[in-house]
Amino acid sequence: MSDCLFCKIRDGQIPAEIVHTDDHCLAFRDINPAAPVHVLLIPRKHIATLNDIGPDQAATMGALFEAAGKVAEKLGVAESGYRVVVNCNADAGQEVFHLHLHILGGRRMSWPPG
Ligand code: 5GP
Ligand code: ZN
Repeated sequence: MSDCLFCKIRDGQIPAEIVHTDDHCLAFRDINPAAPVHVLLIPRKHIATLNDIGPDQAATMGALFEAAGKVAEKLGVAESGYRVVVNCNADAGQEVFHLHLHILGGRRMSWPPG
């Protein structure tokens, strides 16, 4: 997707602080962090929303969640705790339509989310 912000970050056309990269995914710090650790983890392949996941994406989704744990470990929040969030469409507040996991940690978080 040529006009997708996260595809441009993946392709190095827009700078970002990359914290993890592998064959399936890429993680970089959120530009407007909501917690001391706030990373966005994306599949390399452009997928717009969680609604677009089907059986063909099983390997990608597995790799994303495996990478989420690795990122949490690398950034020092695996033991203290962290939250993984996927916003899907308008009511959840999705702003960038390239599927991403928010990985948030480094502070106590309330439940349920507002
Ligand atoms: P969403 O609301 O779609 O779930 O989350 C989009 C996230 O992308 C937001 O937390 C926002 O701060 C982040 N974001 C928006 N533009 C950029 C950018 O250019 N670079 C980075 N690193 N993050 C961005
Ligand atoms: Zn994209």
